Amino acid sequence: MDRHTVEGWTCTYHGLHDGTKVTIKAARDDTHPERYGWTCTCGVSHRSSSYYDCDRSALRHAYPTLLDRLRQWAARQFRTRRAR
Ligand SMILES: [Zn+2]
Repeated sequence: MDRHTVEGWTCTYHGLHDGTKVTIKAARDDTHPERYGWTCTCGVSHRSSSYYDCDRSALRHAYPTLLDRLRQWAARQFRTRRAR
């Protein structure tokens, strides 16, 4: 069951891979069992049956360094709070 069905969904993400600009194009394809998919100009592609998972993984792929930095920051905050 897929409650997150978006009709005619397409999306373009602009990201960076180590300073290189990339474009990720995402679209819904009903002929595929996993309807939502994206393809990056670096050659990587991903498919998912969930719109949200597809959206999140596209953003994660578009900005790997930014998200890694955010994750490190969050881990640091968590550690600091627990030490008190
Ligand atoms: Zn890429």
